[in-house]
Amino acid sequence: MQSIGSLAVVGGGVIGLSVARRAALDGWSVAVHRGKDPGASWVAGGMLAPHSEGWPREERLLRLGLASLALWHGDFMDGLPESVITARESLVVAVDRADVADLKTVGEWLAAQGHPVNVTAAARDVEPLLAQGIRHGFVAETELAVDNRAVVEALDSHCERLGVLMCPPVDDLAALDADVRVIANGIDAPTLWPGLPIRPVKGEVLRLRWRKGCMPVPQRVIRARVHGRQVYLVPRRDGVVVGATQYEHGRDTAPAVTGVRELLDDACAVMPALGEYELAECAAGLRPMTPDNLPIVGRLDDRTLVAAGHGRSGFLLAPWTAEAIAGELNGAPLPEAELVEVR
Ligand SMILES: Cc1cc2nc3c(=O)[nH]c(=O)nc-3n(C[C@H](O)[C@H](O)[C@H](O)COP(=O)(O)OP(=O)(O)OC[C@H]3O[C@@H](n4cnc5c(N)ncnc54)[C@H](O)[C@@H]3O)c2cc1C
Repeated sequence: MQSIGSLAVVGGGVIGLSVARRAALDGWSVAVHRGKDPGASWVAGGMLAPHSEGWPREERLLRLGLASLALWHGDFMDGLPESVITARESLVVAVDRADVADLKTVGEWLAAQGHPVNVTAAARDVEPLLAQGIRHGFVAETELAVDNRAVVEALDSHCERLGVLMCPPVDDLAALDADVRVIANGIDAPTLWPGLPIRPVKGEVLRLRWRKGCMPVPQRVIRARVHGRQVYLVPRRDGVVVGATQYEHGRDTAPAVTGVRELLDDACAVMPALGEYELAECAAGLRPMTPDNLPIVGRLDDRTLVAAGHGRSGFLLAPWTAEAIAGELNGAPLPEAELVEVR
């Protein structure tokens, strides 16, 4: 295919790779500039969960998330192995009465947005591994979960098959002579374009590994409200990812004892059988958050686009982001793109 032009993507996380792959498929000559730090993409839980992550006043995020989830169910998977998908449904449950009230709030809000969910008082009939006493919940039937690391690796190899070049990191956009540049380096985007309102928000995450004799790995994502805190259990081929704390602590990526303890307590309160699993990994990552929790995707000037600030939903929103940037590059911006202001 004859090249349409040259494109430099800065950042090799899920967003940079998704944008690069989409542009390469369209016929752009693409180079991805990336550093050694694998970024938030390597740490994430991998839920693709617009319903169960939803909360009142995040209507735009819900709409983008649903649009992107539809792409995960469709074209975005072309060239990726089916095995990256580790669950095809989420069960959202509540532990105490206040948690049940929160669940009701989300259920009513989703219904008001035109996406009703079936609330049940027999959640253990859906998932028998839940702790006794957990009754209330709803199932989000179209949500998915992916193995985040497998997705990054599969995007990377698809990019390679498409001839995308992998290049060293850059500190300055002026060093890039490509026709168009895309800033897609997560929390570091403001170093390339000062003023972008993106800040790091820390999250601890645990990886628990199944061992012989343990109860089986759950087949669906379990998302729970436990005495006001949120915890999720995301299936993997060999175990479960438990996430995630959320607080601001600069660029600290050391998993702190308090965060790890809370996650273990809450995970075992929801599914006691996890107490027998191996604690295989503790990690912390930095979500690239924006003030309104919406990503910043669009044009900054004639030669520069941005795709950053995906906060807690970068995996979910990667397909939509790749389409939005492809629309900008090809002179046909997506109608949905106007939903995300470039500030
Ligand atoms: C604990 C936790 C749990 C999460 N769970 C989920 C989830 O379940 N579902 C979901 O959808 N999202 C989840 N997320 C959010 C998701 O991980 C992020 O939104 C997503 O990874 C952002 O992708 P990115 O490519 O923009 O940034 P990153 O993955 O951070 O990648 C940015 C890359 O840019 C590189 N870079 C930085 N500066 C430069 C430079 N100057 N030149 C070249 N390269 C550079 C970095 O080294 C890095 O590799 C979670 C995040 C965390 C921290």
